[in-house]
Amino acid sequence: MIIAIDGPAGSGKSSTARAVAARLGIAYLDTGAMYRAITLKAVRLGIAFTDDSALEKVMTQTSIEFEGAAPDTRIIMDGEDVSAAVRTDEVTRNVSDYCARDVVRKSLVSQQRLAASKGSLVCEGRDMSTVVFPNAEIKIYMSASVNERARRRQKDFAAMGVNKSVEELEQEIEARDAKDSSRANSPLRKAEDAVEMDTTGMTLEDQITFIVEKAKPYLS
Ligand code: C5P
Repeated sequence: MIIAIDGPAGSGKSSTARAVAARLGIAYLDTGAMYRAITLKAVRLGIAFTDDSALEKVMTQTSIEFEGAAPDTRIIMDGEDVSAAVRTDEVTRNVSDYCARDVVRKSLVSQQRLAASKGSLVCEGRDMSTVVFPNAEIKIYMSASVNERARRRQKDFAAMGVNKSVEELEQEIEARDAKDSSRANSPLRKAEDAVEMDTTGMTLEDQITFIVEKAKPYLS
């Protein structure tokens, strides 16, 4: 069984998907973290996002693995735990440019499909239900108002010791959403058969229960 969750930045995908996977005892795949890891590596190596031949090399020479059961999954790139490094401002600012490249998407999509071939999975990203797993049993499109999403991001940053204003975060989120939704390659959009979940004003527990209830018939 595949639970595919898509939605814009800060809509609540990660925390919900992690908790759903933990509750159902199935794997969790954070595809945003995979795009972030490749961006981190490219930025460290000084590779421009337009340099497809260098990026192609990066894709063949980089290993991305997840360690640990949800909700405490860590992302390991080339043997290094980059769970915190992929969340920095620099990576967040650049990821939408690198992830729009064909060479990057092709390679990561095939790794994502391989992960699903190993068993039931909760995955989240921008193109899970439209491109990567169009036959997923459960498809969810999560949204929330920009203000709510910026407030959630502010809390995430505060936990990392970084202070940012809601206004600044609203601008960052809107810029990233615009890039992710307007790109030619696998843009963010709601799949026709996805259930829309507006998480503005919903508690995390409400979000988890909503999806777990949908998944139960497939697990029994
Ligand atoms: O989900 P998260 O905010 O960590 O994703 C980081 C970025 O990775 C997104 O803004 C988007 O540009 C890209 N992404 C993507 N396709 C996915 C997951 C993430 O293009 N399936």
